[in-house]
Amino acid sequence: MASAPSILERRRDQALPVLDQMEIDRVRRFGERRSYPAGAAIYTIGQVGAGLMVILSGSIEVTHADKSGQRAAIVTHETGHFLGELAQLAGRPSLADATAKGPVEVLIIPPDRLRALFVGEAELGERIMRALILRRIGLLETGSGGPIIVGRADNGDVLRLEGFLRRNAYPHQLLNPETDAEAKTLIERFHVDPGQLPIVLCPGGQLLRNPGEDELARCIGLVRPIDPNRVYDVAIVGAGPAGLATAVYAASEGLSALVLDCRAFGGQAGASARIENYLGFPTGITGMALMARAYNQAQKFGAEMAIPDQADGLIAPTQIFGRFVLQLASKERVTARSVVIASGARYRSLAIDNLHEFEGSSVHYWATPLEAKLCADQEVALVGAGNSAGQAVVFLASQGVKVRMLVRRPDLTETMSRYLVDRIEGLPNVQVETGCAVSGLEGNNGVLEAVRWRHSGSGEETRRPIHHLFLFIGAEPNTDWLASSDVRLDGKGFIITGEEAGGDRHALETTRRGVFAIGDVRAKSIKRVAAAVGEGAQVVAALHGYLSARAGAPTAAAMVSSPSAQVQSR
Ligand SMILES: Cc1cc2nc3c(=O)[nH]c(=O)nc-3n(C[C@H](O)[C@H](O)[C@H](O)COP(=O)(O)OP(=O)(O)OC[C@H]3O[C@@H](n4cnc5c(N)ncnc54)[C@H](O)[C@@H]3O)c2cc1C
Repeated sequence: MASAPSILERRRDQALPVLDQMEIDRVRRFGERRSYPAGAAIYTIGQVGAGLMVILSGSIEVTHADKSGQRAAIVTHETGHFLGELAQLAGRPSLADATAKGPVEVLIIPPDRLRALFVGEAELGERIMRALILRRIGLLETGSGGPIIVGRADNGDVLRLEGFLRRNAYPHQLLNPETDAEAKTLIERFHVDPGQLPIVLCPGGQLLRNPGEDELARCIGLVRPIDPNRVYDVAIVGAGPAGLATAVYAASEGLSALVLDCRAFGGQAGASARIENYLGFPTGITGMALMARAYNQAQKFGAEMAIPDQADGLIAPTQIFGRFVLQLASKERVTARSVVIASGARYRSLAIDNLHEFEGSSVHYWATPLEAKLCADQEVALVGAGNSAGQAVVFLASQGVKVRMLVRRPDLTETMSRYLVDRIEGLPNVQVETGCAVSGLEGNNGVLEAVRWRHSGSGEETRRPIHHLFLFIGAEPNTDWLASSDVRLDGKGFIITGEEAGGDRHALETTRRGVFAIGDVRAKSIKRVAAAVGEGAQVVAALHGYLSARAGAPTAAAMVSSPSAQVQSR
């Protein structure tokens, strides 16, 4: 059967646009001319390139290594084409090799000048940005240029690593050690014991044995060291919709912004199979697509990303110098004049003793194409009755999964939007069981074999041979990391802001001046994507007010000489 055409074939004109002479002349002021001899390596996989390159004369071949390590051509760029994809926007390592076919002359536009081009040449910038995004999608389709994971698709650690790369829109390939000849070669070559799987082969040639996400991210250059001497106008904790909106508005209005996220961009919204109530998307949009757009947009305006990087503490004493310090799990530090906390919420689990044994392999808190593939043609149990549960049920059912929905309440209407209730009622492969709760899980070696649930009315227990359990039972605020700070929380751990935090506080400001909280992590916020995005926009006005007031505040030297300064600054 012929394979479906790739995105580069389907949208060739947009993915590989040709700049005419007038357009090349317009972009000249953003770049620098450079010549390369025939055969020169222009980009090398795993290494940070000089920037986006417009070809002034000659041609350049872009290649990658396929599963078996053989060179495979992606495209040949000619005069008027430009080389690069999203990695060039953020100064990240290249995902492909590029070699001069003959002598070539190019215009190199480094990442900061590329962002200036987007602002100064909006229409041209839009065409270039679209091409960079389409090219990344092309690499994601084939897994080109990214790491190679060797392990079974249903292994919990493989799922964890694939989920991490997928959530960060990073291409990768998965090789099955039992069926792929290339996998067997890699295992033999690196003397890997089957018990040590999965292994990951990074584009730079390094071999990792069942790495953590942080180790993998650093190996592929997804996250870079943070400059300890840099003072950002704002450090944003969390790259969900609230944090990304702050980054877009702050960076586009000239503030230097660093966004940290301990997992991936997108937050909870990135896990949503289809968001149907976000303004401007009448047919709905997957959370990942919406969040990827925001992530690229923030970088287009110059916001820096540190993902994955986890904030472990907020030190305010140095506020005496008008600066906050965030301590990171990596032992690095971020210094900023203000902080926006957008760390959102994490999923609740069930109080079942052996549940943790099945997490990662059989118990899921997301329902994405990855999980749907794992559960194809099977019956699964899904616990929850909110909109996120409803969306997951509709998505899984659309992928051919038979869903048994377990709901504690007598019906769905109290907790779920009407449109989702109606849709679920019309799905033949969904069975809703109301008035019941999970009472036990059975299985071995991380593989779930059966789920039991008890009916509150009759007290009877049902047991079904089910291998996958999905939990969508609400969320708790991600505020543990603030325990030693003086940012005050309410009884449920959400951050108090506005009047309750202090008489003259901005509506989104916490008990600590200069520290703001937005989105799901904020007490009394509306737990919706649109509300999180709105607060992200709103907080930037507050940041401007705070930073300009601080600019007129006494100097650091003067503050040090005043022992009362820190107290006053609160
Ligand atoms: C499955 C699902 C479907 C949903 N569907 C819809 C919908 O259709 N419509 C709608 O309006 N809403 C929906 N929601 C709710 C919506 O997604 C949330 O209200 C929204 O994502 C909140 O955004 P946020 O940025 O405040 O927080 P989050 O989205 O929770 O993002 C917080 C981010 O902070 C990071 N983080 C946490 N702690 C730290 C730390 N210490 N250091 C660094 N980073 C940290 C997390 O990794 C996360 O990425 C859904 C939620 C879920 C779970």
